[in-house]
Amino acid sequence: MNKLTRDIAQKLIDDHNLSVDEYTLLLSSNSDDLRTLLAKEAVSVRNSIYGNSIYIRGLIEFSNYCKNDCYYCGIRRSNKNVERYRLDIDEILSCCATGYGSGFRTFVLQSGEDPYYDDTKMIEIVAAIRNKYPDCAITLSLGERSKDSYQKLFDAGADRYLLREETADREHYSHLHPKEMSYDNRMTCLNNLKDIGYQVGCGFMVGSPFQKPDNIAKDLYFIQESRPQMVGIGPYITQKDTPFANEENGTLEDTLLCISILRLINPKLLIPATTSLGTIHPLGRELGIKAGANVVMPNLSPVGVRKQYQLYDNKICTGDEAAECINCMKYRMSSIGYEVVCNRGDYPA
Ligand code: SAM
Repeated sequence: MNKLTRDIAQKLIDDHNLSVDEYTLLLSSNSDDLRTLLAKEAVSVRNSIYGNSIYIRGLIEFSNYCKNDCYYCGIRRSNKNVERYRLDIDEILSCCATGYGSGFRTFVLQSGEDPYYDDTKMIEIVAAIRNKYPDCAITLSLGERSKDSYQKLFDAGADRYLLREETADREHYSHLHPKEMSYDNRMTCLNNLKDIGYQVGCGFMVGSPFQKPDNIAKDLYFIQESRPQMVGIGPYITQKDTPFANEENGTLEDTLLCISILRLINPKLLIPATTSLGTIHPLGRELGIKAGANVVMPNLSPVGVRKQYQLYDNKICTGDEAAECINCMKYRMSSIGYEVVCNRGDYPA
């Protein structure tokens, strides 16, 4: 690492903020030395807030129908090789019951952008979970909806919302999405969620097609300025039926560097070690925790549908029952000296 890189890394460690150009330089200088330095600092600030606790969220992928056609995503509407499914309210509640029994106190309901789940249906689902599990957090990840819809779901009992910006660079956004999808609307949605009072999660794929260091730098700067409570990042992984089938995957090293930088931007951030990180490397999630992440999200979806939520090729954890996933995660975390804790795992005050 040269002196300039070291000085910028130190500035991030001391001040928790950098300019877009400084982030670009850090990302362009990714090296073992730099990652080791930033991971050590990231783990130290994270431990000062969270100790060795890792928060756990139960992920329920309840529909793989999607009206969008994102060029990178395996469940895009043009992919005719996907067997589509929807879970009904009883199936979703049954996933929650299994999760609750295993100690989960956060349920994450994720789907493609599926208009079938209109406000009436979603309110019914959220209200039923809220009513049955008053001690649990409900996180939604349903894509772009109107402010009014977000408000109704919040009023019905949802606490958190995950909506990755995917890229904070307008031009890069246009390379990843068809014309009918709007960068401005995605950003408006994030602002609306924040205004309503959700704990908000944004994020991006590391190594997505056409992405350059300065694109990621803009994401990091956006996160630094907009102060979300959660940031989900993972490597981009190709999916064989998409227009990007022949692109390269994102790398473990770039993703780990980004996790450490995010932790240093905001020491309190809730950062998952994602399934995609576990897909590109057998110990990806453990390495993510060691780089500064503090959340894991085992899958609670019924085994029968898991293979159909194939956002990218070779996705892990599609064959195991929920209980196996949870025990596997507890074991993996304890093997590196961390403890999975059974509480809501809220953003610290
Ligand atoms: N429909 C919701 C939305 O748009 O936010 C949630 C579901 S969407 C499939 C969840 C996330 O999967 C996206 O935000 C995207 O970053 C990620 N994703 C999609 N395709 C991917 C791929 N090929 N590799 C890695 N992550 C991918």
